[in-house]
Amino acid sequence: RTWGWSLAGELRQAAARDPGRPAVIDEDGVELTYHDLLDRAERMARSMRAGLGVQAGDRIGVLCRNHHGLIETIVAATLLGVDAVLVNTGLSAAQLGTVADEQRLRLLVHDDEFAERVLGLPADLPRLDERAREELVAGALPGDLHPPERDGRIIVLTSGTTGTPKGARRPTPSGFGPLVSITDRIPLHARDRVMIAAPIFHTWGFAALQVCLALRATIVLHRRFDPSATLAALTTHRCDALFAVPVMVQRLLEVPPPDPRPPLKVVAVSGSALPGGLAPKFMDVYGDVLYNLYGSTEVSWASIAGPQDLRQAPTTAGRPPHGTRLELLGDDGQPVPDGRVGRIFVGNEMLFEGYTSGASRETHDGLLDTGDLGRLNADGLLFVDGRADDMIVSGGENVFPSEVEDLLAQLPQVREAAVIGVPDPEYGQRLSAFLALHPGETLDPEAVREYVRRFLARFSVPRDVIFVKYLPRNATGKVLARELRRYYG
Ligand code: ATP
Repeated sequence: RTWGWSLAGELRQAAARDPGRPAVIDEDGVELTYHDLLDRAERMARSMRAGLGVQAGDRIGVLCRNHHGLIETIVAATLLGVDAVLVNTGLSAAQLGTVADEQRLRLLVHDDEFAERVLGLPADLPRLDERAREELVAGALPGDLHPPERDGRIIVLTSGTTGTPKGARRPTPSGFGPLVSITDRIPLHARDRVMIAAPIFHTWGFAALQVCLALRATIVLHRRFDPSATLAALTTHRCDALFAVPVMVQRLLEVPPPDPRPPLKVVAVSGSALPGGLAPKFMDVYGDVLYNLYGSTEVSWASIAGPQDLRQAPTTAGRPPHGTRLELLGDDGQPVPDGRVGRIFVGNEMLFEGYTSGASRETHDGLLDTGDLGRLNADGLLFVDGRADDMIVSGGENVFPSEVEDLLAQLPQVREAAVIGVPDPEYGQRLSAFLALHPGETLDPEAVREYVRRFLARFSVPRDVIFVKYLPRNATGKVLARELRRYYG
């Protein structure tokens, strides 16, 4: 066996050809070159093998925010042929217990800030906090690492908004597939300097990491997202690109833009829908650099909208990149005509390999059912309406929350908006809009209804308008409808 197209193989090549290039710069003040990163990951791998008996085929859990230790741990796992389960940092202690059990974790590497949350895990599950991890790296015995008999997989957990988080096996974590697919449409280049603000435990942040390592980029990381600190870091480190989730981009607009602006060429967002109106607002301040990628844990990304697409149609998810097939199918399994809503099916070489539970997703002619509904316009641009399960049926009419949310987000007083369906004795479901306003703003619920009535059909008008300070979101910025439903008891 050779190291081949594995994450470990790629990093070995990078360390051999570009040893002195900075690989990771993080908020802890750590700056590692590609040589250092490989060296530290190899040390950690040797220590895990010799000291903890971790071996090919085992699974380790990684409960970390974005910092060098997370990357070292993932690489160390793949060097040993070990699967790394990237654990969502938003999970509760009880969910962590379920994950540790269902994923049969052999070891858990965690940040110190989660020390309390991991207390209740079974005593026989070894845990490494930050100091213990450092000690493993520092105290490694000499020895060789050979290509493992199996490739280590990366297992990404869904965020568990709909129940227990599911583990989704990514294909062999080489960055090659994602690299070809993304550079087809986004001007990213070898040795760029890239800030990954999206959490790496999430499918989008992990894909960004794969792409960055394949590009031998310099990766800038902060543990938590803060708009002012992010803007400062983009300038200080002269970043070419930022990988983020839409809500982060929205937050960047809420702080004064630095003068001069950071020298960004690309701001790529994914993970949830771009709120209506955000794209042009952002590009007016930071230039035509925004890229919107539509995707999921199961399909990685399936379509990409560039700045021109977003100028033309601010909420579009663009077109499938090279190597991706995307079809909108009706209930009869046949493609729907342009402009009509269909279920989005996707085929590409980045599709997940199944859930660790053994469950799988519906496929049709080699294409995976995303569970999302969308439309194509006459120019072939995709518009994602949202998850089929989130569609509201009010008085027999179908309403997509995203359509109403995008409209509400255009009101100058509104900072953010979310719409859910709630049970209604008369209509089956009625629309309920939750609005967080900009500081000092007020709005009258009837004025909100009147505004929606001007643009949309009667059944799309929210009967309930509820003002909140902020919207509850998960770690990737997705609004938690479950939390909003609590309002109704
Ligand atoms: P869970 O499945 O438990 O909610 P999650 O939020 O981590 O977990 P993801 O796989 O990240 O799940 O979510 C993918 C979904 O997010 C897509 O199916 C789609 O509904 C939505 N989404 C992602 N990117 C975009 C985009 N650019 N535009 C519109 N919707 C998007």
